[in-house]
Amino acid sequence: MSAHPPYDLAGKRVWVAGHRGMVGGAIVRRLASEGCEVLTASREELDLTDQRAVLGWMHNQRPQAVFLAAARVGGILANDTRPVEFLRDNLLIETSIFTGAESAGVEKLLFLGSSCIYPKHAEQPIREEALLTGPLEPTNEWYAIAKIAGIKLAQAYRRQYGCDYISAMPTNLYGPGDNFDLKGSHVLPALIRKVHEAKLSGGPVEVWGTGSPRREFLYVDDCADACVFLMKSYSGEGHINVGSGDDIAIIELARLVMDVLGYPGEIVTDPTKPDGTPRKLMDNTRLRTMGWAPKVALREGIARAYEAFLAGEGRNL
Ligand code: GDP
Repeated sequence: MSAHPPYDLAGKRVWVAGHRGMVGGAIVRRLASEGCEVLTASREELDLTDQRAVLGWMHNQRPQAVFLAAARVGGILANDTRPVEFLRDNLLIETSIFTGAESAGVEKLLFLGSSCIYPKHAEQPIREEALLTGPLEPTNEWYAIAKIAGIKLAQAYRRQYGCDYISAMPTNLYGPGDNFDLKGSHVLPALIRKVHEAKLSGGPVEVWGTGSPRREFLYVDDCADACVFLMKSYSGEGHINVGSGDDIAIIELARLVMDVLGYPGEIVTDPTKPDGTPRKLMDNTRLRTMGWAPKVALREGIARAYEAFLAGEGRNL
């Protein structure tokens, strides 16, 4: 699967597309110890949905390796209410960057997807082979279809042009640089904010849906470490799951966040909000077999994410 010489990042020009996002930011932090030159483009400088602009920028900057961590992202409600942005913008970003990478002679590219690419009722834990074996979860299929197209683009460029493009599928990520805006955020940053606010007011913590869905979480710096690991040691057509290997019910997660933040209050559920897919645990055997394992446990990660939240890193506070 990875029987080819390791790809050395030292001395390379490495573009992290999406460096202002949570994952891109963590990849930039992680690359500090690789001895490479990290390239970034601000939103004002470069519109990633503009193919011509991206092509020009890449020819100018000549990155040798690219981490494609740029995407329009959001939680269950944002996905469900802004489908055009989640489908169209993500397709445009991917098309621009893959086209630019091939044209500018990028040596290696890692595309970041998401665990929502898998069918809603995929067998758990979800193996990489489950892709395109059943219908998607409707609340996030816009995003999922764009991400599946990204995996297929990487494969297509590999097959037709021999490009060394690979794909990693991370599970739900959280940590410093997360989006804490309750309307657009994912569940873990939302709970950190809600528990923090309930602690201040003494009120209950509101959990959307029934609280029974199960989700897997990975600390974002662990994900960045896995991405760098794959960039250096993996070359193949198949996408690779990046997960912690454990999942937890949302209601238990709420209790854990309350415990870490020191708030023994009440939890109320809001069944008018969607549950989404019942369970989403990925099988991370492939990555583990290659020799990678996560380092940050969920309790420790929540404590670190809360510190980052208190330090004002939440983008929408
Ligand atoms: P998903 O993994 O794509 O479904 O996205 P989310 O992270 O947004 O939601 C995961 C689960 O957490 C769903 O069952 C939500 O209903 C539930 N949930 C509970 N409270 C919240 C909340 O305050 N915000 C969000 N985004 N989800 C919540």
